[in-house]
Amino acid sequence: MDTIKSLNILPIDAWLSMFSPPLVIAGPCSAESERQMINTARGLAEIEQVRIFRAGIWKPRTRPDVFEGVGSKGLDWLRKVKMETRLLTAVEVAKKEHIEEALRSDVDVLWIGARTVINPFSIQEISDVLKGVDIPVMVKNPVAPDLNAWIGALERLNEAGIKKLVAIHRGFYHFENSIYRNIPMWEIPIELKRLIPHLPLICDPSHIGGKRELIFDIAHKAMDLKMDGLMIESHFDPDKARTDALQQILPADLKVVLSKLVIKQQKGEPEFESRLEEFRAEIDRLDDELIRILSKRMDIVREIGKFKEQYKVTVLQLDRWSKLVSDRVKKGVRLGISRDFLIKLFTRIHQESIDIQTDSSKNNKL
Ligand code: PEP
Ligand code: MN
Repeated sequence: MDTIKSLNILPIDAWLSMFSPPLVIAGPCSAESERQMINTARGLAEIEQVRIFRAGIWKPRTRPDVFEGVGSKGLDWLRKVKMETRLLTAVEVAKKEHIEEALRSDVDVLWIGARTVINPFSIQEISDVLKGVDIPVMVKNPVAPDLNAWIGALERLNEAGIKKLVAIHRGFYHFENSIYRNIPMWEIPIELKRLIPHLPLICDPSHIGGKRELIFDIAHKAMDLKMDGLMIESHFDPDKARTDALQQILPADLKVVLSKLVIKQQKGEPEFESRLEEFRAEIDRLDDELIRILSKRMDIVREIGKFKEQYKVTVLQLDRWSKLVSDRVKKGVRLGISRDFLIKLFTRIHQESIDIQTDSSKNNKL
């Protein structure tokens, strides 16, 4: 796809006074009480980089009969946050009524969630209501890795006259085991940036990681990929949060995360930089593939182990092992991989396979 130049999008500093990157948006996953909102906001207001306070009040939940947000009363709390702190406020909107209410309550920034972006009817409805309204709108990537749906939402909003647009990368739904709640698939936001270079793009490490321990590394990576900012969930008492408790962090911890981030300057030519990022995204993709392949290989090893047991055959089959290693080394050397590395790699893989078949603690997948 060629770059999309036709979108009329303003840079962040055109609508946010005294902006210096990264743009940090923080706040609880869900508004829960006035006390929670004010206490969290007070902590966040002390962090220089935090400019926008976020809170979900209408929560899109996968299953019914769970907490679905406090609804409109959360808008009063957001107003109080704004009055008490220097922070702007942001809320997730998914339909006409949400937008009308948010605008009436002077919310400063709207965002559209991952479950809404996937639906063109919803996006069109939102765009229609926003016609003639001058407000920044942040668009999360859709749950599915569908770059066109993400771009389509940005296009519809831009067509309705929204120029203060920001894309938020929050990772993608996956079936496979992963350390991430939503796999980042960094190549997708990178491709978005390539197609629409003037579109501000920020990362949401909270929803990618799903757990607080991963936030720093993901945020760090986003900065290395030259993203323009971060949306990070923060709560004054994270363990008691009613939604996404595992991924929320204390304002004080957010301060530490932000202070450790190295905001790098552009090194070398921009072209060199973006090409380098593409190489790395490709390496990450390949490594993810390697991990998936290894996991599938170990699944088969487990099956073989059971099979050998059933037929009372020894686990170690020396003939097979010597043939396997010489075959793999030969093939690898032909492709330019060092012999020494191949022997070490396959010896380690073989050892793990033996362990899986002989050690009952490894035999059953967790
Ligand atoms: C959220 O930001 O709390 C949220 C629901 O995010 P997403 O739409 O990315 O799942
Ligand atoms: Mn959340």
